[in-house]
Amino acid sequence: MTTSSPNAKEPRCPVCSGSAMAPYGDKDGYSFLSCSDCGYVFCHPRPSQQALDEMHAEQGGSDGIRADYYPKAPSRARRGLMNAFKLVRYVFGQRVLDLGCGGGFVVGGFKRAFAREAVGLDINPNAIEYARAHYSDCTFHCGTLDDFKGGRIGTFGFVYSSEVIEHVENVEAYMNFLAEITQPGAVVFITTPDIAGEQVPDVVTDWDLFSPPLHIQFFNEDTLTRLFVRFGFTPIKRVPDRGGPGLKMLFRKDA
Ligand SMILES: [Zn+2]
Repeated sequence: MTTSSPNAKEPRCPVCSGSAMAPYGDKDGYSFLSCSDCGYVFCHPRPSQQALDEMHAEQGGSDGIRADYYPKAPSRARRGLMNAFKLVRYVFGQRVLDLGCGGGFVVGGFKRAFAREAVGLDINPNAIEYARAHYSDCTFHCGTLDDFKGGRIGTFGFVYSSEVIEHVENVEAYMNFLAEITQPGAVVFITTPDIAGEQVPDVVTDWDLFSPPLHIQFFNEDTLTRLFVRFGFTPIKRVPDRGGPGLKMLFRKDA
């Protein structure tokens, strides 16, 4: 990997490559910095990937997810189908991936929204067991991005990644992975909490979504766009979140 070491003493901004940082705030024993050039906010030093992987796997386990049970499955399935059909123009006839697919609800939706092939990838083995048991016409992979880089899952015409980027230990590795698995002209739909959203309190660290080590970096429309442009994507549009805290954006992979 050509990315900077996330635990280096002097971090480099993954959005603008700047190296001037200002203290942003502390929460629950974690410190955050803000890039002086672009305003990107991130946890530094980082929790280790191993700690994060264990936390994410643990969460699945502690929710009681197993092959025959997923909390609130009916409403998740309904929402997954609805979200998939909202994106049908990008999904239709494509090989599509949900990066961070959980129980596969959106993947199942993509298959029904006329994806040629619908694939899900998640780190949580219980969630993947559930997905495989319930969406047998889709393909599911369990593991980290490292497990699947290097062309091991092929390339896609559409990639969906909802509420994932704020969790990842290495944002540049995540973006390199996205760039590697997207065909030229492919569309990426990404959602993450909007740190510039109306619902964010004046003291940002009081925000309920400001929750390390679960959420360890925060974007606004500008920083998310700059990040994607840096990795070879062009913004298509921001999708409204109807008063919610979400930053939802569509990007197209450059040819
Ligand atoms: Zn920056």
